[in-house]
Amino acid sequence: MSDDISDIFDAGVVKFINSKAPNIVPNDFIKEYEVDVEKLAKLLGYQVQFEDLPYSGELHEDTIIVNKKNVPTRQRFTIAHELGHAAEHQSEAKRRGGIGRYGLQERFDEITANKFASELLMPVKLVIRSLLKSADDNGYNSQRLTSGEVAQMETGASSMLNVSTEALKYRVENLGIFRKQSDERIH
Ligand SMILES: [Zn+2]
Repeated sequence: MSDDISDIFDAGVVKFINSKAPNIVPNDFIKEYEVDVEKLAKLLGYQVQFEDLPYSGELHEDTIIVNKKNVPTRQRFTIAHELGHAAEHQSEAKRRGGIGRYGLQERFDEITANKFASELLMPVKLVIRSLLKSADDNGYNSQRLTSGEVAQMETGASSMLNVSTEALKYRVENLGIFRKQSDERIH
């Protein structure tokens, strides 16, 4: 993969990576379709520890603690989510100047961290590439897809990206990848 970070990721992710490690290239942490998020976290200066936790994970300064009992796709999402909080804190320090967290702000932070996580683990370019690869592997005509074929492609793509099929479907839906065609062809 010869792309630059900014060829693959959205602006928020690019900004955060560049602020922590400006010389990183996609090859350092992307294997074909899969973002090795644990490796990226380490390249950005974070430690990742797996422990017994009553929840998915947390960020303690430069340490990301992950629930060791969660399935690997969940753990990967947690690491990406905590990196999202780290990115938030970075811009938050300037924006909010130390105003305490409460209710709605906390919800907003969670939504922002989840958005960051899906953009990091499922960048548009890799989602499209893996869907096309999956269509190709199955011998589908990507111009005329049935809903069953789309579901099969989503399953294939999610395993290439090493994310849960649920997360991939949600991302595909949000990006509207099949929306235009779905009117005429899919349903
Ligand atoms: Zn969170």
